[in-house]
Amino acid sequence: MTEATDPARRDVLGPVVGAFDAHEPPSRDLAADCVHCGFCLTTCPTYVLWGEEADSPRGRIHQIQQGLDGEPLTGSMVSHVDRCLGCMACMTACPSGVRYDRLIEATRAQVERRHSRTARERALRAAVFALFPYPNRLRLLRGPLRAYRASGLRRLVARTGLLERLAPTVATLESLTPRLTKVPRPPRRVPARGPRRAVVGMLTGCVQSAFFPDVNAATVRVLAAEGCDVLIPARQGCCGALSVHNGRTGEARRFARALIDTFTGTGMDYLVVNAAGCGSSLKEYGDLLRDDPAYAGRAAEFAARVRDLSEVLVELGPAAPRHRLAVTVAYHDACHLGHAQGVRAQPRELLRSIPGLTLREIADPEICCGSAGIWNVLNPEPAAELGDRKAGDVLATGAELLVTANPGCLMQVAAALRRRGATIGLAHTAVVLDAAIRGLPAAALTD
Ligand code: SF4
Ligand code: SF4
Repeated sequence: MTEATDPARRDVLGPVVGAFDAHEPPSRDLAADCVHCGFCLTTCPTYVLWGEEADSPRGRIHQIQQGLDGEPLTGSMVSHVDRCLGCMACMTACPSGVRYDRLIEATRAQVERRHSRTARERALRAAVFALFPYPNRLRLLRGPLRAYRASGLRRLVARTGLLERLAPTVATLESLTPRLTKVPRPPRRVPARGPRRAVVGMLTGCVQSAFFPDVNAATVRVLAAEGCDVLIPARQGCCGALSVHNGRTGEARRFARALIDTFTGTGMDYLVVNAAGCGSSLKEYGDLLRDDPAYAGRAAEFAARVRDLSEVLVELGPAAPRHRLAVTVAYHDACHLGHAQGVRAQPRELLRSIPGLTLREIADPEICCGSAGIWNVLNPEPAAELGDRKAGDVLATGAELLVTANPGCLMQVAAALRRRGATIGLAHTAVVLDAAIRGLPAAALTD
């Protein structure tokens, strides 16, 4: 039984009119902002892939409007909503300022509550949400994954294509898993090197801390070198980004309250985030908890302190000298940094400040690489197609190193490059800056 058919829940959620019940339906006013100009169409990855109006931003907004006007929530509408990557390229392209992010999040929350998924879909989503938002559980996977790699089984499985045939989703997860390095957990407080210029809290993240601890270690070193006291509370939970992007609003609010509590009283000037998807959600906490009398004010105040790492570093200005790093870099805009947060200039400015580094632009930078949180796990085939397109555009730059600011993008593009047998290096912006500050050779990034 879904919440829509449960009479007890209907009292709480209000009557169903068309596709939606009365509990936080998508806003009719926001949907009406769309003037159907179509400027967003060519930036939408699903429209680029399939050329279908129903899989474009304009088409999805039209379906939401139809749902508000009385059309029921059909399987067809759910599939077009599910296929949206939530990349927000349409918001960058839209001259009318349509808040597609709010429309799709409200619609997804209704879908999650009111639509009956198949048993397979339910099982897959249950597994994903029992694992990904819990860094301690993700860390438990590191040992078995390392053993799998060391055994040589990965090469055998890749050669035979067995996993793809048996279980495409497991194959996707396996292909996305990065090379796992052992890095000690950062201490709770790292003092600034030299005069202190700011006190920053640091979000360690779920996937970032489990699979990219080297990125967190580099982030801490760079912040300290630039004059920041870095506070890293030990028991940080998930920020709720995956949950809110997938319509699990109640769960996202629980994560958000807990994270606000974790950082309350630390005395931080900023909360620094080095994962684009997390940063975009954290900046929206004020909206997420707007109806919670105990947290609304705290959430807005908390959100105002959130900064992507590149924003903080540019705001502070460089203090630590950069050594020469002779490397050609292609910078990939993670959607939740570029489109959702509008942070494009700062990472480029930081990279250009490194002597010897040459920056190259990737064609069609607005098109998503296909990672999109867990979209690539739920939709492995189109995600691989988008990953292959991005990998081709990256290789066309001739760069030796791909740099981006999101763990999902790093895993997605790395998997696509591996499929092509390409050997380009991959690194987070923090790792490149750290190498320049410490005077490491370019080979430390490209090998
Ligand atoms: S968020 Fe991305 S995938 Fe979804 S409609 Fe907008 S451009 Fe298309
Ligand atoms: S660009 Fe904006 S106004 Fe135009 S169709 Fe797309 S969402 Fe609607």
